[in-house]
Amino acid sequence: MARRPALSPSRANDFRQCPLLFRLRTIDRLPEPKSSAATLGTLVHLVLERLFDLPAEDRTEDSAARALRPGWEEMLAKDPALAELHADDAALAAWLDEARARLRTYFTLENPMRLEPSGREEFVELQLEDGPLLRGIIDRVEVAPDGSIRLSDYKTGRTPPPNYGQKERFQMRFYALLVDRIRGRRPALLQLLFLKDGGRLDLRPTPDDLAQVEFEIRALWDEIVAAAKAGAFRPQRSKLCDWCSFKELCPEFGGTPPALSPERALDALGVTA
Ligand code: SF4
Repeated sequence: MARRPALSPSRANDFRQCPLLFRLRTIDRLPEPKSSAATLGTLVHLVLERLFDLPAEDRTEDSAARALRPGWEEMLAKDPALAELHADDAALAAWLDEARARLRTYFTLENPMRLEPSGREEFVELQLEDGPLLRGIIDRVEVAPDGSIRLSDYKTGRTPPPNYGQKERFQMRFYALLVDRIRGRRPALLQLLFLKDGGRLDLRPTPDDLAQVEFEIRALWDEIVAAAKAGAFRPQRSKLCDWCSFKELCPEFGGTPPALSPERALDALGVTA
């Protein structure tokens, strides 16, 4: 059964970056080319999730590294088009080495033998009253004996410089809001682990932080619905345009996006006109 449309941190961040990007991804659902970096992230997440299937004493760097190739073959069986990412076996081997380096860095940040997550790739969903359906997948959830909750997220990129990382912070506060509302307990710690350079970012959300993120989400949703009612999602040019898959369709670069009616936009968002 198809899932109801919902707002995730990634889609919310898309709209904050560029309303047209959000529209082309979420409403038009245009296909995008596979990205080597994103696929590497998927593989590393898969291996780290499965690591906790092993008995604690077997959660070693070697066992994680050994799981890379089977994980990749599993991904390839589900989506054979991924094979196009690597020109030949040497390119694939170099890419798997990169994934191995991310896992090596992971083991400098944590000792998974000492952790017993209560959730991995945990699906969370919350209907905000008079607002959007919110949805997310949390990489790892742990509950301490005193009931305190820690949420963790793995990033295969670098630690953002000071005063950056707003997208990542927003994502974690978004998850914290969902967990707080669903479990009735505010997470004590939100941890971001950056596996390219071994950085980490710890956030301790306060009640005010959660109230603020709810306010931001509601304001953003109002903007999204207003854009859908007008059938007009404006492009917002930035240096991130260099990584956008939709440049050819973007008016900022001489393109023309497909026509969009308000009815179709509202329907795709699950909003009744
Ligand atoms: S190229 Fe830039 S402005 Fe155009 S849709 Fe993509 S992100 Fe938005």
